[in-house]
Amino acid sequence: TFRAMLIEDQDGKPKAAFRDLTFSDLPDHDVLVEVAYSTVNYKDGLAITGKGRIARRLPMVAGIDLAGTVVESRSPDWAPGDKVIVNGWGLSETEWGGYSRYQRLKPEWLTRLPEGFALRDAMAIGTAGYTAALCVAALEDWGTIAPGGKDVLVTGAAGGVGSTAISLLASKGYNVTAATGRPETHDYLRALGAVNFVSREELAEKGGPLQKERWAGAVDSVGSTTLANVLAQTCYGGAVAACGLAGGFDLPASVMPHILRSVALIGIDSVMAPQAKRDRARALLADHLGRTSLASIAGVEPMHKLPELAADILAGKIRGRVVVDLEA
Ligand code: NAP
Repeated sequence: TFRAMLIEDQDGKPKAAFRDLTFSDLPDHDVLVEVAYSTVNYKDGLAITGKGRIARRLPMVAGIDLAGTVVESRSPDWAPGDKVIVNGWGLSETEWGGYSRYQRLKPEWLTRLPEGFALRDAMAIGTAGYTAALCVAALEDWGTIAPGGKDVLVTGAAGGVGSTAISLLASKGYNVTAATGRPETHDYLRALGAVNFVSREELAEKGGPLQKERWAGAVDSVGSTTLANVLAQTCYGGAVAACGLAGGFDLPASVMPHILRSVALIGIDSVMAPQAKRDRARALLADHLGRTSLASIAGVEPMHKLPELAADILAGKIRGRVVVDLEA
């Protein structure tokens, strides 16, 4: 048997528990992977605490990310010994996920571990880091952010998406402003490359539909009034890549920034993002996420701490990223 964290039905509500599984419990997919590491993203926090209905069928093995080694394969694309990563593809929602020492997966969900990366690095990045890269790529494609130019704003700065976005943007030469509710993280964020700071509270307060133009672009993981203010403060022709809802899933905004300043709101989804976008994001991470930054962003925790880590990430207490060691 081996250990897994399952979301089960308890009186009509999702409830997380550690269970011992056998290989015959696993889904009948073509590739069996021994999972070395998973991670804790915001969505994992929602799934484990039951505060969000992430699992769409129960019982469900939680964990939206995993990194490990192929043990058995019925697919010609994968062989025992291959080091692989999975980010998203419905894991923990409709498909069994990464909080299990072993998992069976569809071949098309797997990505080869990039050269020069360890399995642990892949989970230090995880869905949060790869989503940050999708956001940066989207802003670059939009074309109005420029190295050395007007600031690019990152909200939820000390979180997983935020920390990685700051590091990527700074290493590409963009001037980065970090919006955080935790002034005690300023030194950490400065070391990742942030040069200016705004407070979470300032952006969370309801503001006018058109405000002083401050940002060439922005990566927003917060949503709600924060996103509305960010749009209202984005410079003429700029863009905001929105990926998160840590502050709320509503959007009390107006069309004014869009119709008077040509500001774009670009939606970013990581779960079903096509391989081409994933490849682009991975290349950005491989080329521009420094080893020192990665080491300072992520810590490693044992699997048994998952319930505590889930509560912490929803409370906004996790700095950067958490890698989960499935062997510990
Ligand atoms: P995280 O590590 O918890 O980061 C979120 C950060 O947001 C926190 O560290 C905190 O930063 C800030 N924050 C927390 N509560 C807040 C509140 N009530 N109001 C304003 N700011 C608040 O989570 P993550 O894993 O990076 O994910 C960030 C967001 O992106 C989540 O909403 C997640 O669901 C979303 N996401 C979406 C996708 C996608 O595919 N679209 C993929 C990954 C993540 P400070 O302490 O610095 O203020």
